[in-house]
Amino acid sequence: AAQRVGANRQQQYTADLDASAQHHADLAAALRRGLDQGEFRLFYQPIVELPLGRITAVEALIRWFPDGGTPVSPAEFIPVAEQTGMIVDLGAWILDTACADAAAWRDRFGDAAPRISVNVSARQLLDPELPALVADVLRRHALPPHQVTLEITETAVFAGGPALHTVHALRSLGVGIALDDFGTGHSSLTLLRTCPVTTLKVDKSFIDELNGSPQQEAIAASLSGIAATLGLRAVAEGVETQDQADRLHVLGYRFAQGYHFARPQPATEIDASLLATAGAA
Ligand code: C2E
Ligand code: MG
Ligand code: MG
Ligand code: MG
Repeated sequence: AAQRVGANRQQQYTADLDASAQHHADLAAALRRGLDQGEFRLFYQPIVELPLGRITAVEALIRWFPDGGTPVSPAEFIPVAEQTGMIVDLGAWILDTACADAAAWRDRFGDAAPRISVNVSARQLLDPELPALVADVLRRHALPPHQVTLEITETAVFAGGPALHTVHALRSLGVGIALDDFGTGHSSLTLLRTCPVTTLKVDKSFIDELNGSPQQEAIAASLSGIAATLGLRAVAEGVETQDQADRLHVLGYRFAQGYHFARPQPATEIDASLLATAGAA
């Protein structure tokens, strides 16, 4: 009997693997179709200045509406797009769309226009053409490079190599470089010595439970201190309450992002917020 159970388990395991490989292949094909058929949208989440909450930048976050239906989370499809290499085409679309929207805000709001932050995945950093692509996008939209920040993760540039070289080439263009989810990797501090970073996005896990935890406060304060010492911006990610925002300001954070201030939203809604602010000023 034990042997049969083992055999059944093996069968079940193989069936699960087949099913997940099939799911992966279906998803990969649907993603490719989705790009051709215009099923992707960029949403933008404000990055605000504390304590007043003025919008200083927006982060582009991709959304996929397959067949116009319910959106699929980027946490689910970005890894697949990376594995298949499709992130290179998708990433080019993301950069172009984000910079087109940023240029439109610049035309409309001038110096009050928000800077734009665009996520760049590990696979994109292995593409030697990326710096030329970014330069081309900036030129086509007549967007000054300092208006753009590229968000990269530590794992993408881990252990140096070609990705780190690409990051230096990107920085040379004049765009900002943000380390996303800062503090969660294995070598966050080591990376600060070799990577030309301009912004630290302090991971949500350090921002949660700020209140009432002296350890958490000490860590959050040290991270903003490191940024200040090195002349970098620190952005607190995932701020959900006014209490957190107040504490972060006290702990030295000038910039924050999170549902407390605004959810990711279509460009037209960002427009409306900017207009309201301009009108109020
Ligand atoms: P990320 O770059 O760290 O983006 C922040 C994520 O946290 C976003 O999830 C955002 O919606 C979410 N978030 C913001 N504020 C809060 C908050 O107060 N509470 C909570 N619980 N969550 C908050 P999203 O949009 O689902 O994206 C997930 C991840 O997918 C991103 O993490 C990024 O790694 C990746 N991603 C999203 N868009 C792109 C893209 O255009 N290109 C690439 N390469 N990756 C992307
Ligand atoms: Mg990000
Ligand atoms: Mg992040
Ligand atoms: Mg994250």
